[in-house]
Amino acid sequence: MKNPLKILGKTICTAYDRVCGTLSRIDSWQRKGVKVAPLSAESHECLNCHTTFTGNFCPRCGQSAGVSRFTFKHAINKTLEVWGLGNRSLPRTLWHLICRPGYMIGDYLDGRQAPYFPPIKMLFLVTTAFVVTQHIVAPGAMDGIYTDATISLSDKKLDIPNGEEAYKGKRIFIEGMNNFIDVFKNVTDFFRQNQAIELVLSHSLFALIAMRVFRRSPLRPNMNLTECFFSQILIATQLMMVSMACIIATQGSKWIDNMYCMPTWLLLLVMFYDYKQLYGFSLLRTAWFTFKVLAGWWIMMFLLLVVWMALSVAWAAI
Ligand SMILES: [Zn+2]
Repeated sequence: MKNPLKILGKTICTAYDRVCGTLSRIDSWQRKGVKVAPLSAESHECLNCHTTFTGNFCPRCGQSAGVSRFTFKHAINKTLEVWGLGNRSLPRTLWHLICRPGYMIGDYLDGRQAPYFPPIKMLFLVTTAFVVTQHIVAPGAMDGIYTDATISLSDKKLDIPNGEEAYKGKRIFIEGMNNFIDVFKNVTDFFRQNQAIELVLSHSLFALIAMRVFRRSPLRPNMNLTECFFSQILIATQLMMVSMACIIATQGSKWIDNMYCMPTWLLLLVMFYDYKQLYGFSLLRTAWFTFKVLAGWWIMMFLLLVVWMALSVAWAAI
């Protein structure tokens, strides 16, 4: 009889090999990206400008060689194109952003832009989808949290003292802080209604920090600010999709500890996944740098608030 331990060992080895094989296949798929359509060798006559050409598109006017008589199939394809199927496909870009985010962003920065949907437009569309989902799944949940926050902020406003204690410095300070609270409330109100603008601005700050933190990356050293900005816009889109999944899964938003509706550990995990694929640092270094980026962002936000408060008080003194 065979030794059962040996059989068990063998089974574990085979299972391990299988898992490794699957993982390496996933990894090579993730790195490869979108395949470009083969070049047509047939000669076509452009139906728009009547130029004869070989290839997929007319070199004179850019019309596709695939344009033919109106058939049912053609009509269906054209209808789907409105929804972003075909080249520059929205669903495909979102799919790649979920499955191989860092590599996809890398592709985009390297100039492989034709297969993907334009990033800023996509962020606005996904944010709109997020707002709609929020209204359907958890109507009023965010409003409740927001109203509570505004009330507790208003409670922090102090009366400007008169009489005995009303020396000038104290009065000016309280007046300045009250002004700050009013303006702050208006600004948060605006951003709440224009979430995509909020994301673009806050990710500009992320871009600045990421440019500094990842400047010596093995895959993409010395990325410039615009490249970092576009990579952050794509990351923001991906984070909005994860937020949407979180809202659907939890029937509302339990987490408001960051600007997305997801716990901060998940935010860090998603950013870690993106940065690992995009910059190619080791796992440990990527983890440390991801933490640095988020911590840097919080510190910058805190400093901006302090400067804003100081300016409000200074303004009250004038
Ligand atoms: Zn043509």
